[in-house]
Amino acid sequence: MPITVIGAGLAGCEAAWQIAQNGEEAVLIEMKPQKYTPAHKSPTFAELICSNSLKAERVTSAAGLLKEEMYRMGSLLVPCALQTRVPAGGALAVDRVKFSALVTEKIHQNVNIHCVEQECTEIPESGITVIATGPLTSDALAAKIEHLCGDSLRFYDAAAPIITAESLDRDRIFAASRYGKGEGEDYLNCPMNREEYENFYTELVHAQRAPLHGCDVQDPKVYEGCMPIEVMAQRGPDTIRFGPLKPVGLRDPHTGHRPWAVVQLRRE
Ligand SMILES: Cc1cc2nc3c(=O)[nH]c(=O)nc-3n(C[C@H](O)[C@H](O)[C@H](O)COP(=O)(O)OP(=O)(O)OC[C@H]3O[C@@H](n4cnc5c(N)ncnc54)[C@H](O)[C@@H]3O)c2cc1C
Repeated sequence: MPITVIGAGLAGCEAAWQIAQNGEEAVLIEMKPQKYTPAHKSPTFAELICSNSLKAERVTSAAGLLKEEMYRMGSLLVPCALQTRVPAGGALAVDRVKFSALVTEKIHQNVNIHCVEQECTEIPESGITVIATGPLTSDALAAKIEHLCGDSLRFYDAAAPIITAESLDRDRIFAASRYGKGEGEDYLNCPMNREEYENFYTELVHAQRAPLHGCDVQDPKVYEGCMPIEVMAQRGPDTIRFGPLKPVGLRDPHTGHRPWAVVQLRRE
């Protein structure tokens, strides 16, 4: 009996691929393009809806080790990411359109994977099922999962901002990778001196905020691994300067010094 995989996102595609590589049949059920979640836009599989980074490649980091282990286990996603990579210092980042297209092509070419285009609203009663519908599982299926597991489904929402290239002051920013990794100039760095940083920090912690909605109003919680910048900033004046705005491994060619803080942007 084929194994059912619900959701052709990153997890579902990898699961179906591994099933197929082990000589079993997989039925991969995906609701796109009939129905889209509020964040998905493309009809293709393994759509990256936010960051295009699969994080560090160093095998001494957890993210790097995971990718290496997946690669050695005959992963679908890691070779597709390597083929469609874009410069990102020591990280593995991809061209999201090419990556998703390549994963979709490989899945369609695999004779052991049968794709079904429909929203799954029930959890199959028999056989083995992998539910890989991600954080934006459609409401009907989410209700079934909740019924099975109790009232404990949570999704912590955060999205990486995208900055338009025209808004950058090319006379102030400089191209470099931290410690010269990757191709050496993979990131656009927006440096701040101490005064600029302190102004930025003050504006940030006093800025108008997007209103919380739904259950967040009663029970506001953040996920430590992907925290809104304004929440992190409230932990202390130097917290973001030692976190995502850290200046280490960078030297501003205009001053010859390490900046007080840096906002790093990927070129795309
Ligand atoms: C706004 C937002 C920002 C995010 N930012 C990041 C980030 O920057 N970095 C990061 O690592 N992660 C981020 N995430 C989490 C991200 O979704 C996961 O990392 C990744 O996409 C999870 O892969 P997945 O395969 O589990 O789910 P997904 O990639 O979401 O794939 C699930 C698939 O299931 C399909 N599906 C849903 N319900 C059904 C159904 N009932 N029947 C059939 N098909 C269904 C969907 O259409 C989708 O194709 C973000 C998520 C959101 C919503």
